Amino acid sequence: MFVDRAFITARGGDGGNGHVSFKRAKGLPKGGPDGGDGGNGGDLVFFADPGVNTLLDFRGVKMWRAEDGEAGRKKQQHGATAPPRVIRVPPGTQAYDVETGELLCDLGPEERVVIAAGGRGGFGNEHFKSSTNQAPRTSSPGAPGEERELRLELKLIADVGLVGLPNAGKSTLLKALTRADPKIADYPFTTLSPQLGIAALDPARRVVVADIPGLIGGAAQGAGLGHDFLRHIERTSVVLHVLDACPPDGSTPAENYRAIRAELQEYSIELAEKPEVIALNKVDLLGSPEDQAQAMQDLAGELRLGADQPAYVVSGAAAIGLDGLLEGLWTLLHHGEGPLEGWKPATEQAG
Ligand code: GDP
Ligand code: MG
Repeated sequence: MFVDRAFITARGGDGGNGHVSFKRAKGLPKGGPDGGDGGNGGDLVFFADPGVNTLLDFRGVKMWRAEDGEAGRKKQQHGATAPPRVIRVPPGTQAYDVETGELLCDLGPEERVVIAAGGRGGFGNEHFKSSTNQAPRTSSPGAPGEERELRLELKLIADVGLVGLPNAGKSTLLKALTRADPKIADYPFTTLSPQLGIAALDPARRVVVADIPGLIGGAAQGAGLGHDFLRHIERTSVVLHVLDACPPDGSTPAENYRAIRAELQEYSIELAEKPEVIALNKVDLLGSPEDQAQAMQDLAGELRLGADQPAYVVSGAAAIGLDGLLEGLWTLLHHGEGPLEGWKPATEQAG
């Protein structure tokens, strides 16, 4: 499995200190204590936001802490309690206490948990007034916020699975898509698994893409690929079918499309029934945008693709059509199946 991991320090805000002061007013000889209490420190909260799908935000930022409570003030004014600081994490995030190894939480979508509590505010000196001490100079400090070393783990589920014949350009396309954001280029997945990448339309919109290498030629029987990987792929939401626009062996994209579809059916009905996006790849070999659009029209005609079938002309190597493809994948992932609002097939876009 692919595991996204981050080590952080989580800390609640410190409580504000209690205050020491005495009433002062014209004509009053000696006022009593009126130092206010400190406010509570803010809680550090994890919220599992379905719009977040990696732990990328935690890389390079070690300390995550909530605001401190305000100190108390004179005239019995209490310091303000700090609001909770809500950190968005991907659903499926598990937080372990590094010291004890304890699993602190395993967050489902929309769940939230206080991961490090804020400290309580201290008492001002008005609290320490008693029959024997009418003018206490004592206050108490705010309690420190809870602090924990955490190991965050996320078992990544690919949103999009790439299928296609060997040499269709899947690896190249995956690299090109996931290189869109330079911040992501040195992400450690690339070393964990060359078949997995994260494509970013912008920092808030990320798509996890997994290559399904060598589906053709025995993979359906489990050869070559680990079963873990195949299981992983079954949980993707969308299949991205990559087709070589000019197969060097003289075959046609339509024939190759059908071959892969047959293989998908054999391997997994579940996978075969996922929404599919077609990427007619290597269109840099086709010349003008008109020629590219024509090739897509030919393919759509031969395969009798419906008007609502998402299909794009792209080139991983020449970086053609990648943004449009990502937008289309994003829309499909986040608005469910069926015709997409405001979406036009690549054939129409190009023509
Ligand atoms: P995979 O087997 O599907 O992963 O395919 P690769 O990404 O390894 O690419 C197979 C071959 O096609 C390599 O020689 C690539 O350089 C070439 N290739 C990949 N993408 C493109 C492209 O967009 N345009 C062209 N002209 N060649 C490409
Ligand atoms: Mg490959």
